[in-house]
Amino acid sequence: MMSNVKFGPAGLGPVKDAVSKLEELHKKGLRACEIAFTYGVYIKEEKDAREIGEKAKELGISLSIHAPYWINLNSEEKEKVEKSKERIINCLKVGTWLGAKRVVFHPGYYSKNSLASFNKSQRKDKKEIKENQEIFDKKKTYDKIKNEILEIQKIRKEKNYTPQLAPETTGKINVFGSVEEIAQLVRDTKCSFCIDFAHILAREKRYRFKETLESLGKGKELHIHFSGIVYGEKGEKHHKKTEKDGWEQLISNLPRDKEITIVCEAPTPSVDAIEGLNIYKSMNNK
Ligand SMILES: [Zn+2]
Repeated sequence: MMSNVKFGPAGLGPVKDAVSKLEELHKKGLRACEIAFTYGVYIKEEKDAREIGEKAKELGISLSIHAPYWINLNSEEKEKVEKSKERIINCLKVGTWLGAKRVVFHPGYYSKNSLASFNKSQRKDKKEIKENQEIFDKKKTYDKIKNEILEIQKIRKEKNYTPQLAPETTGKINVFGSVEEIAQLVRDTKCSFCIDFAHILAREKRYRFKETLESLGKGKELHIHFSGIVYGEKGEKHHKKTEKDGWEQLISNLPRDKEITIVCEAPTPSVDAIEGLNIYKSMNNK
């Protein structure tokens, strides 16, 4: 019986090797792949995208896209917001050719206007992190990002683009994207979402599986990012190898009644995804 949990790597690699890479993933039992447009939408030709999409479909591999990092829907500069939206819309277009289910993106940064007036001497206080967090204008940021996403949703519908918009939970305390903010976006804009549990650990110092799945796990599907992570007080530093204990914690907290995609973002994403899959299998055979 096919399991309802798919594992796969972040990154498909270059266009010319994409079909053979998909075959390789398939052989290893991986059934998901998130194409990394993080440094640019590198699949440009419709013909290439359709060929990759068809191969993925044939092999039962579910595709998603990670949009470019250079996105800030809350920039003070109108041009930067427009460019950010263009990048997401471009991903939606190529994602439609690919048959990708989701376009994952980091929505933006908190407004920092009031941060400038923050008295530097107070930073020595032990509550530094908390105060820093509160000084961001989170409400203003939320409203702006929500409105821009509604705008993108309109274009998505007009152009019949098929992937869902999936804002991701982010790993730094000064970046928009707490679980609560993403859940609110889902309610207000009918978008989808991506839960990055490594980011949640870095941001909140614990995985918060239960609370996260309570607020974001209401639909039939879950799109999850997972990996090991190095983090400090302000959140994520970088991804690292996924430890067995991390996989076990994640897998034992997964709901049983949903379609789940787990994309691994470790430095060796395919290797880690296979380890995750094997741990999943052994835990479910018991
Ligand atoms: Zn992620």
